[in-house]
Amino acid sequence: MKIKVDFDLCESNALCEALAPTHFQIDDDDFLQILDEHVSAEDLDAVKQAVAACPKSAISLVED
Ligand code: SF4
Repeated sequence: MKIKVDFDLCESNALCEALAPTHFQIDDDDFLQILDEHVSAEDLDAVKQAVAACPKSAISLVED
């Protein structure tokens, strides 16, 4: 699975970073960076939690 983010919706509130810091990080300019768009089976639960927690529904998981 692969992470896609709609950056027009993202409000950089860092909820995704809190839940899946291996994949999401808010940079020094307050922009969300995707550290690794590919999601291993090991990280899938954490990334799914981040998807569910995003108040803007900006994150989706797509087949790669
Ligand atoms: S949780 Fe959603 S709105 Fe917040 S930083 Fe992550 S993608 Fe952006």
